[in-house]
Amino acid sequence: MPKQVSPFHSKTGEVYHIYSVCTAGISIKRGRKVKGKGNKKLCGACKDIRAGKRPR
Ligand SMILES: [Zn+2]
Repeated sequence: MPKQVSPFHSKTGEVYHIYSVCTAGISIKRGRKVKGKGNKKLCGACKDIRAGKRPR
């Protein structure tokens, strides 16, 4: 089970992430990555990781 990190999101995205292994989270470009939930929804992939449905 991957370790959770503090929430982060992309300035241009509609979701926030809680796993550093999330591929969508990894694809956020440098400079667009912001700390916090940004009043957004939790990323679907991160949800699946939390539920143990996928490793990343
Ligand atoms: Zn994510």
